[in-house]
Amino acid sequence: MGLYTASDGHVDPYSLTQAIAKGARKYGALIFQGLGVTTLNLREDGRWVVSTTEGDILANRVVNAAGFWAKEIAKLAGSDLPLVPNHHQYLVTSTVPEVKALKREIPVLRHLEGSFYLRMERDGLLIGPYESTHTMRQCEDWMWNGVPEGFGKELFEPDMDRLEPHLEIAMQLVPCFADASIQSVVNGPITYTPDVLPLVGPDMLPNMWLAAGFGYGIIHGGGMGSYLASWIINGQPPFEMTECDPLRFGSWTTNDYVLAKARESYGMNNAVTYPHEERFAGRPTSRVSGAHEVLESEGACMQIHSGWEQPAWFTSPGQQPQYCPSFQRTNWHEAVEKEVDLVMTSAGIIDLTPFAKIIVQGRQAAAFMDYMTANSVPPLGRTVITHILSPTGHVYAELTVTRTHEDTFLVITGSGVELHDLRWLQDYARRGNWNVSFANITEDMGCLSVAGPKSKDILSTLSPVFNGKFPFFSCKEVTLAGVKTT
Ligand SMILES: Cc1cc2nc3c(=O)[nH]c(=O)nc-3n(C[C@H](O)[C@H](O)[C@H](O)COP(=O)(O)OP(=O)(O)OC[C@H]3O[C@@H](n4cnc5c(N)ncnc54)[C@H](O)[C@@H]3O)c2cc1C
Repeated sequence: MGLYTASDGHVDPYSLTQAIAKGARKYGALIFQGLGVTTLNLREDGRWVVSTTEGDILANRVVNAAGFWAKEIAKLAGSDLPLVPNHHQYLVTSTVPEVKALKREIPVLRHLEGSFYLRMERDGLLIGPYESTHTMRQCEDWMWNGVPEGFGKELFEPDMDRLEPHLEIAMQLVPCFADASIQSVVNGPITYTPDVLPLVGPDMLPNMWLAAGFGYGIIHGGGMGSYLASWIINGQPPFEMTECDPLRFGSWTTNDYVLAKARESYGMNNAVTYPHEERFAGRPTSRVSGAHEVLESEGACMQIHSGWEQPAWFTSPGQQPQYCPSFQRTNWHEAVEKEVDLVMTSAGIIDLTPFAKIIVQGRQAAAFMDYMTANSVPPLGRTVITHILSPTGHVYAELTVTRTHEDTFLVITGSGVELHDLRWLQDYARRGNWNVSFANITEDMGCLSVAGPKSKDILSTLSPVFNGKFPFFSCKEVTLAGVKTT
């Protein structure tokens, strides 16, 4: 049994690239070939001096789309990217009589257990396996030492031993493949991010854009190019695609994490995934809240979110803290039901430390926040929930903004959009020459939520301030159990 996608197909990557280049030239693009970028320098006016082997180019914007060299280009600009090339192989047979005799092309076959795709290639067959997590190879030394000097479009030595388990399954499935002779084996670098999605959008550096980390650059290239061009021209993304935002990764994304996750993502390319799936390579990360040990001792089963190890659910007494995914009810179903019930009828403490926390401060901080957000700026000691809107009025971000001092705001936003939101604020401040500064204190400040009908009673036992006038959406600095709290 299988699924048939009528619109599935394949394209020759060389012709596709040429077609896109032709289209770009038609609309005025100039393409210089054989010109290597050697240095990148940011000028005070936000423009980049791009030095090449044949002179300098002054650029309003730079798009780093350098494939597996993208990490090297990022280093020229003083940053880094979470990328590693994996070895990826495919094999092409010479003419197969049964294939040649076919009157029409067979669909591209994707076999999940065998972890390969197989399709016609002229009169023969082409098979491209995704090798297992344990046997696949990565350019680990490139990760640490950079792409070897002079490495261009070279290929690696084919490794038939690694392909064999996949080929055996293919032979059972497509018997004529067993008698085919091998014409060529291609083994090349395929760039991976930890989660196999590309890095597409603005970087943190001014006017630096990214279109890199494509595991499926042929499939995704056209669409991603259009998405990026639209964002650059219109000053806002054409639709929300935070999954591919380059800033979903951060300083927590170490080389070791990238290697472990890219290996896992590649090896599980054809794995059947469960709802709310957790993957454990590269974990635990270093991104934990100050309450991490307490939470673990209370039976927390951790899940990863934006690099944070955060509790997904708590075991009941006698229950094992095991991850047992399922398409039906999971082993955490009842525990979560109990937690929800407790918070609704009594109270619960939720560790929200992964929430992003940004301090916006300065002489023009209030005017800036007023300009940037849709709701009114809160008076001192008050909080508002507000939105950053895009130029055409789409919601770009949802923020909780508290005015802690006349010229200081504590901005809290989702953990998944920490740098995504900070980048937008910083970019507008820079372009508008606003007198404001930003401090990302996400990892310096914990955040606990006490929720439920009994929350006030509980907090009142810690400080008399909760018995007094403390209306909704207001903020005070209090000391709770010896800890300074906002
Ligand atoms: C064996 C194999 C099979 C694959 N199969 C598929 C598939 O079936 N479907 C699919 O969608 N994808 C597939 N891929 C992946 C696909 O090939 C890549 O995702 C895609 O080519 C990446 O395109 P890119 O433009 O990001 O990078 P690239 O094509 O690598 O382009 C990067 C460009 O940057 C240039 N550059 C680098 N450094 C500099 C510098 N210093 N100065 C100036 N220019 C520089 C390079 O010369 C190059 O032209 C496969 C990859 C491999 C290896």
